[in-house]
This record gives sequence, structure tokens and C-alpha cells, in this order.
Amino acid sequence: MRVFRGDAAEGPKVVYIAGNLDEKASFAQLRSEIAGDAEVVLDLGNLERMNSAGVRNWISFARDIPNDMRVVLVRCPVFFVRQISMVSRFLGGTEVGSLYLPFYCEACDDTDEALYDAAGLSVPLDLREVTCACGEPMAFDEIEENYLRFLKRQSASE
Ligand SMILES: [Zn+2]
Repeated sequence: MRVFRGDAAEGPKVVYIAGNLDEKASFAQLRSEIAGDAEVVLDLGNLERMNSAGVRNWISFARDIPNDMRVVLVRCPVFFVRQISMVSRFLGGTEVGSLYLPFYCEACDDTDEALYDAAGLSVPLDLREVTCACGEPMAFDEIEENYLRFLKRQSASE
């Protein structure tokens, strides 16, 4: 896992996490990068994969975020969103700002992902049509109630 800080001139500090969330991932570095700010944006768009050790480490990281601190996760990859919705403690003190939704084209068997703001989503999904490169409309490639289960939890805790 690589952790590096963006150079946002204004607004909350942006910290990027890239690579693999696994037993080698350095959460100590992540903790020290985000320490001291009231609000931090964590960009997860370049995470590649996560194993069970990574899940455990993430849960303890998320749990330990102080109550007076806001950590907003942006560009959450599909595998990460599945964990958020499957494991109730996964979000901890974080919240989802934006996430990728997976789409599938029946006509040509292609898949794609598109980025959405969590605030604009609800179940059942009401999305503008996503068009495949082949010209056919694409279908959402997960079960809405499962994939977006975290939305309910997130709005309940706000
Ligand atoms: Zn297609």
C-alpha cells in the first residue's frame, strides 16, 4: 500500500491510498498523514485489492478515527464498496463521499464502472442511462439492495 498526500491548495487535505490493502499495508503512515486535521478526504481510487488481513486492519483504522474528525472516502472501488455493505463495522468513523458502480452490457458482454456521489444515490437506483461502447444500454451489475446497503447505515448515522 502506498500513502501519499495531495497538494490541495484549499479545502480539506486529500490523502491517496494506492496498491494493496493487505498485511503489509502501513496504517501507521496513514494514521500520521491524516492526524491533526478536522476533515480529510481519502482517495481510494487507486486501490487494487484487499485481503482478509487488510480488511481487519482497515476496520481497526476506521474504528479509531476520533469522533470530532471527518474522514470522507472518495472514488471507492467496487470491491471496497462490497466490503462496506457486507461488514457493518467496515465504515467505522468514515463516510462514503463517492463510489464506483459496476455496469454490464448484455449485447457484447463488456463491463464498465462509473463514478457517483453517494449523496445522489438511493435504492431503487434511478440513474441516467449508461451506454456501452457498442451503443447498447448497460445494466447495473450488482444487486442494488446489497451493494448499496451502506447508504441506509450512513444516512442513519448522520
Ligand atoms: Zn456493449
